[in-house]
Amino acid sequence: MAATAHEFDLGALRLGSGEGRRLRLEVPIEPLLFAGEPYRAEPLADDAANVPVVLDVSRMMGGGYALRLSFSAALSGPCMRCLKPAEPTIDVDAREVDRPGEGEELESPYVHDEVLDLAAWARDAFALAAPVKVLCREECAGLCPICAADLNDVGPDHVHEAAPDPRWAKLRELKLE
Ligand SMILES: [Zn+2]
Ligand SMILES: [Zn+2]
Repeated sequence: MAATAHEFDLGALRLGSGEGRRLRLEVPIEPLLFAGEPYRAEPLADDAANVPVVLDVSRMMGGGYALRLSFSAALSGPCMRCLKPAEPTIDVDAREVDRPGEGEELESPYVHDEVLDLAAWARDAFALAAPVKVLCREECAGLCPICAADLNDVGPDHVHEAAPDPRWAKLRELKLE
């Protein structure tokens, strides 16, 4: 059972220059909001309360850390086409470098005083890896724009006749005579 961690103290690993360590942790990931709708990051295994992640920490020569975070989680929320529950699997593989004192681009926003804000990084990396459209399945047909019927259920033959023009109706009557 992996330890649950919001934050991780990199300094406590006491890594020497060039040394590395692989850690397995569980991270609580805050829900993402798409159009005000919450989409939760859920562990793929039912027995995990939080999302299991692998964190690789390497202490660089000359100081600082190279970090790699990888995990897979389900993105759970309403399908953006048909509104039924969707939970596509999202794979995350993110890297950060933190080398304080060597310019802003080499300072990770998630590391402060050798403490890594794991929950914030995991949430941001998850959001970046998430698809623009969350769908129950790639071919989801969505809802009928006229009556909101689920087109996955009613099938492709579902159509609405255009509202009949009364003048045509009159003409048809004439023809029948
Ligand atoms: Zn759908
Ligand atoms: Zn319809």
